[in-house]
Amino acid sequence: MSKTLKICKKYFVTAVILISMVCMVVSVGPINANAATSVNVPVLCYHVVTNNPSGTYQFSLSEFKNQLAYLKKNGYTTLSMNQFIQIMNNKAAAPSKPILLTFDDCTSDFASNVVPALSQYGMKATQFVVSSWVNTSGHLTSAQLKSFSGKGYDIQCHTVSHISLKGQSYSKQYSEIQNNKTAINSYTGITPSVLAYPYGPYDQNTITAQQNSGIKMGFTVNGGLCNSSTNKYALPRAVIVNGDSLTTFARKITKGY
Ligand SMILES: [Zn+2]
Repeated sequence: MSKTLKICKKYFVTAVILISMVCMVVSVGPINANAATSVNVPVLCYHVVTNNPSGTYQFSLSEFKNQLAYLKKNGYTTLSMNQFIQIMNNKAAAPSKPILLTFDDCTSDFASNVVPALSQYGMKATQFVVSSWVNTSGHLTSAQLKSFSGKGYDIQCHTVSHISLKGQSYSKQYSEIQNNKTAINSYTGITPSVLAYPYGPYDQNTITAQQNSGIKMGFTVNGGLCNSSTNKYALPRAVIVNGDSLTTFARKITKGY
């Protein structure tokens, strides 16, 4: 073999290796994107967070802060509702260890306890609002909702009067959802697009009423994790209850129950 041929061969081999490497990088891209779209997202459901919790649906503020510290220490990323919707629809890749924090019933501790704790960690959350409770004793005011909206907090639907939707007539369910949506829009200027079902139950009328009011997703309180193939009107949430230890919390964010 002549010297020139040897050099040519060397360059050819180098070129083949380089091309192979480029091909590998290119092919890894779409694989990662597919992996990201099938990611499981835990969605937590809180109610009252307070110094002196009583009853199942009130949770200790100090334990809540421990949970947020746990999320930070373990590399979780809290999602905005818009990010969550994009991930569920395969429109965006999920960040590392995504999690959605939700709070139901627009109780006033959200302003006094929850928001200060979350902002300390730079974490995002969603508040599901019962519009007939806004501006009443023990609940958030419309001015507070406006001040939180779009600043790391999403204000979304939880019906007008907190009725259990399942079994109600279509027209009743539609008005509970549509009027709730209109009220929230009047507080925040933002049109909500997701609903949390009070107490969890729903039926076909709930789904049709949501579709006709432009609500794109509905949350239950059935345990489980959400991913892009989950029924968009039966999204599971893991409820955090009084006395949950950090071990229970770790299980709920891993398994969804
Ligand atoms: Zn509720």
